[in-house]
Amino acid sequence: MVGYQGRPGAGDTQQRRRAASTDSPAELGARARQQAAVAHLGEHALSGAGLTALLDEGAAAAARELAADYSKILELLPDGERLLMRAGVGWKDGYVGSAFIEAGTGSQAGYTLLSDEPVVLEDAAAEDRFAMPALHHEHHITSGVSVIISGREHSFGILGVYTSSQRSFSEDDIHFLQSLANVLATAIERKRAEEERELLLAEVRQLAETSQSRAAELQGILNNMLDGVFVSDLKGRITLVNNAGIGMMGLRGEQPVGLGIADLQSVLGMSHLDGRAFGQDERPLTRALAGETVILEDAIIFSPESRRRSFIRTNAVPIRHDDGKIMGAVAVTRDVSALIELEQLKDQFISVAAHELKTPVAVMKGFAQALLRTDDNMPPVRRKMLDAINRGSDRIDRVVQDLLDISRFHAGRLDLVMEKIYLPDLVEQVADRESLSATKHQIRLTDASPVVVLGDRDRLEQVVVNLIDNAMKYSPGGWDVEVGVRLAGKDAVVQVSDRGVGIPREKQGHIFERFYRAHTGTAFDYGGMGVGLYISKEIVGRHGGRIWFESREGEGSVFSFSLPLVRGEGADEQL
Ligand code: ADP
Repeated sequence: MVGYQGRPGAGDTQQRRRAASTDSPAELGARARQQAAVAHLGEHALSGAGLTALLDEGAAAAARELAADYSKILELLPDGERLLMRAGVGWKDGYVGSAFIEAGTGSQAGYTLLSDEPVVLEDAAAEDRFAMPALHHEHHITSGVSVIISGREHSFGILGVYTSSQRSFSEDDIHFLQSLANVLATAIERKRAEEERELLLAEVRQLAETSQSRAAELQGILNNMLDGVFVSDLKGRITLVNNAGIGMMGLRGEQPVGLGIADLQSVLGMSHLDGRAFGQDERPLTRALAGETVILEDAIIFSPESRRRSFIRTNAVPIRHDDGKIMGAVAVTRDVSALIELEQLKDQFISVAAHELKTPVAVMKGFAQALLRTDDNMPPVRRKMLDAINRGSDRIDRVVQDLLDISRFHAGRLDLVMEKIYLPDLVEQVADRESLSATKHQIRLTDASPVVVLGDRDRLEQVVVNLIDNAMKYSPGGWDVEVGVRLAGKDAVVQVSDRGVGIPREKQGHIFERFYRAHTGTAFDYGGMGVGLYISKEIVGRHGGRIWFESREGEGSVFSFSLPLVRGEGADEQL
């Protein structure tokens, strides 16, 4: 039984019950027609009729089967304060589709929604639960009944029938009206779900289109890059290669499908610069899949098709999910053949030039010295000239030696003559010698820990000379240079400090590079080739040590290098 709320009044409920239990043939016929109307509305809804048509049919059936003058279906608007007449019969023209009714106790409809059950209006004149809207006054409505059309989250609205003359509604009447409202509620829900699905589908379609066009955009960018791009999934399968990458692989346009990282390496014919093949764990993509960021990995590739050897430089990074888990890796590879060939040409030139200069310089120096020795009565002007030639050829000789060193390092031909060296002595001797030629600077020995290392005496002297020379050169004011030898764990450390011009921070990363000079074009450009530190680094490296520095522009620099102590020798051992 459907709940309802009639106007409280004596005998009201009893009277309605009686009406409901009257089984006259006319009544029975009416009930049968009502049931047929509900069934018809249901069928109509199932056949996929439009919502407006269903609402119209519901409103018409309600008025017709309950012999009412008016019926209306009101939709509660989202503001919750008004209801709109979506369908109805009997009303003056222009109301259906545009009349608004106040919610709350401003109308029977609003009151029905508040009560959450059917509400019967027996006599408008005596009604005190809710106000009569203007629409009802205008149509002289006296009686009526309204039921809720429910909804999933909130009620859709109200279905109501009304009469101008006073009448009462039986429980069966109310039940019929509620049945119509229920059919409408189901149809409305279905329509809403359909609309939502359509909306969702449209969104998905839109998303798919957007991501498709983004993918096309990305593909376009990738394919127009000069660098090769290789993407691998977590299992090490190559999932994407751009055009430049395909070119490097010697393929023509087609995506290499189903290739693994090892296959990629063999298709590329990739090896280290010294010709060694890449080990399984050395491959940039494999390393990136293990979480490493691979920077500037140089390799040679060989294209069987063009029978050409190229040099490539690769960076590779893991691709991660939002939660940080690795889902793949990407490698970006650049053909640096032109660069490396230029470097090789430079090396070749340096080596040839140094070798060509070596002999004439030695001849110049030899003759100048011989002349200086043989003639004691030489006029002072001539002696001065010969001295200048001697000093000049010394300088050229130093440059030649540096250049020869560079080509030796490159060819891997730096021969060291190793011996045990008591480091503080070596450093002191160099400092003394340098002091002789120092005009403005004091070279002070600070620490002199008694440490012994294994090394090439001449080469280690060369490093210390270079650091002290630099310290003096870049301290134009003549401030003191401090030199020390100390013990640091299993290493001996030589340290040279100055309080000179220092090195600008942005240039500090480069100063061990060949021919790099941090002060070129500044007021502190004191000449030089920019190879001293490069050579020092190579020498220290070959001894198993490390070289580093700290520097502040305008405050000075501290250069240090470490050498491993001779195994088994105590720090206090003297040679
Ligand atoms: P150079 O022949 O130019 O001195 P180096 O290889 O010895 O070549 O040094 C490279 C560059 O590092 C120098 O040109 C200079 O700019 C900078 N540098 C080296 N030592 C010092 C120092 N003690 N103080 C400031 N700058 C230095």
